[in-house]
Amino acid sequence: MRFDVVSIFPEYLAPLELSLIGKARTDGLLELAVHDLRAYTTDRHRTVDDTPYGGGAGMVMKPEPWAQALTEIAAATPAGPGGRRPTLIVPSPAGEVFTQKLAYELAEEEHLVFAAGRYEGIDERVLDWAAEQYTVRPISLGDYVLNGGEVAVLAMVEAIARLVPGVVGNPESLIEESHADGLLEYPVYTKPSTWRDRAVPEVLLSGNHGKIAKFRKEHQLRRTAARRPDLLERLDVANFSKTDRNVLWDLGYAVVDGRAVLRGDDRAEND
Ligand code: SAM
Repeated sequence: MRFDVVSIFPEYLAPLELSLIGKARTDGLLELAVHDLRAYTTDRHRTVDDTPYGGGAGMVMKPEPWAQALTEIAAATPAGPGGRRPTLIVPSPAGEVFTQKLAYELAEEEHLVFAAGRYEGIDERVLDWAAEQYTVRPISLGDYVLNGGEVAVLAMVEAIARLVPGVVGNPESLIEESHADGLLEYPVYTKPSTWRDRAVPEVLLSGNHGKIAKFRKEHQLRRTAARRPDLLERLDVANFSKTDRNVLWDLGYAVVDGRAVLRGDDRAEND
């Protein structure tokens, strides 16, 4: 899989040389290139921004350096045998929200190009124009505003790249983790079994795999209900076991039409 990142702060992306992503690059599982947007300017000051039409605060990124950079990247990496065009990810607080589901979807692509904006963002015409060569996707890291797209690129590249086969040593760890099955992960512990008067839950020392799995599922449900009830309410629980349904009931949820619905809600009461 190939990643290209365009930014006015290429050095911001240096952490992608470290840890699992760095190793995957060295091992040839991932190709990643970072491009300095200013290299595609033509004036003495290497200008990448200008004042916004219509007035208002801040500056807007000029379209031409982006067009030059994106044309060069697309030309250097022609579509593979499948003929799939590269995906251009434009980090933006006004984009669709990045999730694990989206990370899995993007990990299926051959070539992702990231356009890390700064200032008030990139001239909107670039997105329109780029759609001739790329599948363009404005994507948000969450409902808050960062100073620039680089942090969003770091987060997205890491979340996507670790799903590429071989990048994470033990693929099992991708199955048992938060958001893999729509729930948050259960709490985890390591040695010593008692630390500062706090003991690890007894069942985890029992060696009884059935009981451990039951404990973990219960705690996934408890944690998700406490911290992210929105996830629980979106989950398909139609095939939940009796034990899991009992946990849901304890947590205040009834199962209605395959969904967990808070008791007290009309839908649960009318069931
Ligand atoms: N004026 C823009 C708006 O209100 O939508 C915000 C611009 S922000 C200061 C500058 C750049 O940071 C954006 O162009 C984008 O690349 C990046 N950025 C900021 N918040 C982001 C978020 N939540 N997700 C992804 N990228 C973000």
